[in-house]
Amino acid sequence: MEKVKIIEVGPRDGLQNLPAFVPTDRKIALIKKLAATGVREIQIGSFVSPQAIAQFRDIEEVARSVRRLRSVALSALVPNERGAEKALACGISRLIFFFSVSSKHNYANVKQSPRASLKELKNICRTYPDLASTSLRVDLATAFGCPFAGKVTTTAVLRMVEKVAAMGVREITLCDTVGFGHPKDVEEKFLECNRLFPEIRFGAHFHNTRGLAQANALRAYDVGVRSFDSAAGGLGGCPFAPGSSGNVATEDLAYLFESMGIKTGTDLKKLLTVSKWLQQILPQAKLSGALFQAGLPSKRKLFC
Ligand code: ZN
Repeated sequence: MEKVKIIEVGPRDGLQNLPAFVPTDRKIALIKKLAATGVREIQIGSFVSPQAIAQFRDIEEVARSVRRLRSVALSALVPNERGAEKALACGISRLIFFFSVSSKHNYANVKQSPRASLKELKNICRTYPDLASTSLRVDLATAFGCPFAGKVTTTAVLRMVEKVAAMGVREITLCDTVGFGHPKDVEEKFLECNRLFPEIRFGAHFHNTRGLAQANALRAYDVGVRSFDSAAGGLGGCPFAPGSSGNVATEDLAYLFESMGIKTGTDLKKLLTVSKWLQQILPQAKLSGALFQAGLPSKRKLFC
């Protein structure tokens, strides 16, 4: 039976774009509720400087409160070696290092060049040599386009993948940070990545800024991708990427795959309950998910 892995990024990608601070107990409650939906992994937040993203100033407290959850893998973003050290000290052993293929976006996001970010990655791999091949994932932001520089070519993405793979990392996610990607571009990039780097597990991260996230996910699946990021209710965006909007909604993505007989391991009803709760506690957030607004189709609805 075909299966895909759904990684819930709402507590990280979803919350980071909200101007108002979400109280720590609500973040913890969100992660616990999500852990009961059957998603395989949850990104709990970012170990970034509070000056960069104030929303994560409580990340250590959040991490310590959820680290004993058994039903799900927990991961967090780290921009540098210091972030990695803090995450590991808080009991989060699955780390995600991120940088942008586009130099302009990387400067806006982490105030340095992609080359400097690669140096940070090298430091992490050197300090934690076992991490790279087992529990370190690298996210390539703006892999399908940049709000400042425009088109990002397949060649530019492959160049970065090559550098990351050379450090022993075995998991790389191509991120459509601002929703520029379209199915043909998705197909080309993943086909080339899989052809040239068969030892790497590639994942996909799509934002639904221009309504193509589901189409992109399906195309990525067709060319072999089996790991997808999504956020409950479609919450999300990037504070340093003008015009970006939410990730593809977790329940919409799960519904897409489940309706095709592809197992996600998630409970759709529970996912919908979390998204509805999220909308209640975060009325200022515009959730873009379709399924939690329309509901699951009942027989009566299907035939009326
Ligand atoms: Zn994102």
